Amino acid sequence: MPYRAPLEDFRRILTDVVGYEQVSGTDLYAEAGMETVEAVLTEAGKMCEEVLAPLNRNGDLDPARLENGRMRTPRGFAEGYKAIAEGGWVAISAAPESGGMGLPMAVTTCVNDMMGSACLALQLNPLMTQGQIEALEHHASDELKALYLPKLVTGEWQGTMNLTEPQAGSDVGALSTRAEPLEDGTYAITGQKIYITWGDNDFTENVCHLVLARLPDAVPGTKGISLFLVPRNIPDADGNPGVANDLKVVSLEHKLGMHGSPTCVMQYDGARGWLVGKEGGGMRAMFTMMNNARLGVGVQGVAIAEAATQAALAYAQERRQGRTPEGTIIGHADVRRMLATMRADTFAARAIALAQAVAIDMGRATGEADWQARAALLTPITKAFGTDTGIAVADMGVQVHGGMGYIEETGAAQFLRDVRVTAIYEGTNGIQAMDLVGRKMMDGGEAAYRLLDEIEGFAETARGQMPELATRVWEAAESLRETTEALVATEVADRFAGAVPYLRGFARVLGGYFHLRAAMAQPEGGAARLARFYIERLLPEHTGLLVQARAGSDAVMQITADDLAA
Ligand SMILES: Cc1cc2nc3c(=O)[nH]c(=O)nc-3n(C[C@H](O)[C@H](O)[C@H](O)COP(=O)(O)OP(=O)(O)OC[C@H]3O[C@@H](n4cnc5c(N)ncnc54)[C@H](O)[C@@H]3O)c2cc1C
Repeated sequence: MPYRAPLEDFRRILTDVVGYEQVSGTDLYAEAGMETVEAVLTEAGKMCEEVLAPLNRNGDLDPARLENGRMRTPRGFAEGYKAIAEGGWVAISAAPESGGMGLPMAVTTCVNDMMGSACLALQLNPLMTQGQIEALEHHASDELKALYLPKLVTGEWQGTMNLTEPQAGSDVGALSTRAEPLEDGTYAITGQKIYITWGDNDFTENVCHLVLARLPDAVPGTKGISLFLVPRNIPDADGNPGVANDLKVVSLEHKLGMHGSPTCVMQYDGARGWLVGKEGGGMRAMFTMMNNARLGVGVQGVAIAEAATQAALAYAQERRQGRTPEGTIIGHADVRRMLATMRADTFAARAIALAQAVAIDMGRATGEADWQARAALLTPITKAFGTDTGIAVADMGVQVHGGMGYIEETGAAQFLRDVRVTAIYEGTNGIQAMDLVGRKMMDGGEAAYRLLDEIEGFAETARGQMPELATRVWEAAESLRETTEALVATEVADRFAGAVPYLRGFARVLGGYFHLRAAMAQPEGGAARLARFYIERLLPEHTGLLVQARAGSDAVMQITADDLAA
């Protein structure tokens, strides 16, 4: 079933739900009014429907491979990438001085959503570059910016991020790649990185690696890590990719899904690198890239949820089995329940991601700390809930297809295989939840309380028109507030044990709020019916989740490894 860009959903969420008009009301984004945004999204949607979506299956059946040390990407990917780059879709939010269009992150988020639905394995490539551009814009020297940014923004060159090593996964501080200072001010980078996404390709002139490494006298842990830009080909002064650097792709991983995206083991043998940011400031610089990438990865979950929902809906409207008024399985209550869950959760996850994007844009445009704190608070929720939703919705998509879901030809299984990794990379979802209850609560819960004030205030005004739905949302927000207060007052170990259910409970409440906003804007339409479904059937999950969140760590940690083996 062909992919259809959900332009109406974007329009509705931006205008009715997440307050995009605040963004276009700022001086910085004054030219990005809704009319412009809709025109941009229509154009991007066309490319996704017509060029990228037909490539998705190629990526699965004809995986990227290494032949005599050279990368071979799936059939059609080079042409697909060309369409992305020539359309200017690699980096529409990059600053105009870097050659970008300076459009808001909210617009990039919608474009990434569509590209991810159409062909996730290929979309992962520009997503890496987007993060690299942002890290360089914030932390690189003027010389590096001038040399690299124009090439990255046009997509002539591609970016990667190199953190992981065999002994340093979630614990990035354990990494041991070395950086030796050279006399000319550059560094010699030596070490091995694993799982490097799009570590090479056969369609861009150059590949630019951002590599975390340690200087010889660096302190142990994350404070001793610095960030280096290490190009595959060292550019000359005019920006032409010159001699090959001392690095190579050693091998590719064989994966559950995402076959079109090469996941590489990279070897650096004294490769020349340029420092980005300060010595010892690597994690700070890399966090710029990771926060961008976390929104991007959360949106990958939304993208697959969208694609899986569209495919399942089309199948359910054709498949005849049992008796229903419609004549097809969509008439069965359980199938309708699955499809409604898929659509309602896709909406909730997309609205959360776009609310984060709006907060990023407002933070940039106004410099206000409250917006920046809102963006930071929503980052782990977008990432974990977006990707968990992608997995759950793709799984339900298989179920709606019955036996055909298990057969590869329908594509339902590919969605599930491809999206599974999104809960693992960019910080596992467990690590995201710990970030939410740890670092993001270092303000004593202030950013969370401000958001809850907003939700409760809206629910109170909505009570007159939609008393039942608004009351449920208000009560859910209140119980999230109580749980947040309890968590802020407890030991970190107890918080961590309840972190995952807390994050999911938080996302459930946000979903209820955003559905209520959509329903209030269109009280008679499908949005209101979907909101009622979400608030009556899915929102109540928050109650059990928040009980778990408050339960402390005893019941978890008293279980011994022997108990588990029994
Ligand atoms: C397809 C793919 C692409 C990738 N792309 C990139 C890339 O481009 N660049 C890059 O640098 N890396 C990349 N990665 C690596 C990815 O980011 C790591 O796999 C991920 O961060 C987890 O690290 P790990 O695999 O070592 O798992 P581990 O850290 O060993 O984690 C195993 C389990 O333990 C849990 N855990 C670990 N530490 C803690 C803790 N302190 N508290 C609670 N639970 C904990 C984890 O949540 C997880 O459930 C990629 C991975 C894959 C599979």
